[in-house]
Amino acid sequence: MRNSAKILCNVLLGFCFLVLIQACATKTSEPSMSASNAPHALAAIDESTKLAYEGGTQPLTTTPVVGKPARQYPPVFVPGTETLEAGEMRVTILGSGDPFVKVSQASASVLVEVGNAERDIFFFDLGSGSLANFNGLKLPVASTTKVFLTHLHADHVGDMPTLVWSLAKAGRSVPVEVWGPAGATRELGTLAYAEHLLAAHAWDTASLQEHPSGRSGARMIATEVPYDKPAVVYERNGVTISSFPVKHILPGPVGYRVDYRGRSMVFTGDTMPTESTVEACRGGVDLLIHESFPSASVFAKKANVTFEQAEKVVNYSHTSPVMAAKIFKAAGARMSVLWHLVVDHETVGPAYQEVRSQFDGPVTIAQDLTVFNITKEAVVTRQAIIDPVAWPVMGK
Ligand SMILES: [Zn+2]
Ligand SMILES: [Zn+2]
Repeated sequence: MRNSAKILCNVLLGFCFLVLIQACATKTSEPSMSASNAPHALAAIDESTKLAYEGGTQPLTTTPVVGKPARQYPPVFVPGTETLEAGEMRVTILGSGDPFVKVSQASASVLVEVGNAERDIFFFDLGSGSLANFNGLKLPVASTTKVFLTHLHADHVGDMPTLVWSLAKAGRSVPVEVWGPAGATRELGTLAYAEHLLAAHAWDTASLQEHPSGRSGARMIATEVPYDKPAVVYERNGVTISSFPVKHILPGPVGYRVDYRGRSMVFTGDTMPTESTVEACRGGVDLLIHESFPSASVFAKKANVTFEQAEKVVNYSHTSPVMAAKIFKAAGARMSVLWHLVVDHETVGPAYQEVRSQFDGPVTIAQDLTVFNITKEAVVTRQAIIDPVAWPVMGK
């Protein structure tokens, strides 16, 4: 109850910000951001920083504005109030957390929107809780048709049944296309995963026979991508998506790169530090979203395990903030993002310090609903403030 009051306050605060900014905008014809409305940098990212789930409205970033934007952006992103321009890419963190889904952080998921005529949207992973955040973005259910999975850990696929079956009930009438890695054997691959998921939800599919939305949207079309070599896996409507192998426990996991009209994003999914990520950023990239777990000493304390056990998880399955920073340095993205990190008052300060010991470029620690607007001119980082009781958007 206290939490929903807090969220409601945030929504109201967001609208107040917007009204204020729109009032400022009518007084000025400046095409670029002015000091009065630019999202401002935090003085420091440490254990006293107010976090998004506590009502903080600022992203955890060193550099809210990289470059000089050609248009004005309000300091917070209020869904439904800004048009995505042609040539623009907007990336929203739907799930920034770890496998243990929390009210503070949903599990793994990143949403990419592009300003093409179709206004295509793409999910990259779909962990538990991520669709609750998506629902607040006021995007049409009819567009929820494309998912790219990095690997089949539960915290990256937990909301797949909600997408395929529940959003069909909300009006999506076409099947969901799912891309994901092949496995070393057939039963470890994405085709087998999709077949088993469909079989497991047979009752739900049958129940849709008489549903007004019909049952046509409650299906998946799965396509496997190679896990052992880079490949172009999607080319439509001006968007190209390629996959590349990463290193995470077993053969299989991949990362993805999205290219749209000169704008780009690289998303690693779960991985140890690997040259293939740097390779995927070759030629330049706007946004690099790299996974990171707290350093072994912080993780041991949080998870109540020995340092040796923590090292195994952090350094032999995932990437510490120090190692992520080394990749950031080699990759040279316009904005580098630490993602999949538990964000609380024990983790955020040390993670920031550790990154800064290696890397002095623009960096953001992802929280749920951190939003990046990417244009030729700038990368703008903000927090979205959503309506917690929004209904799915049926139409356009
Ligand atoms: Zn994983
Ligand atoms: Zn994971």
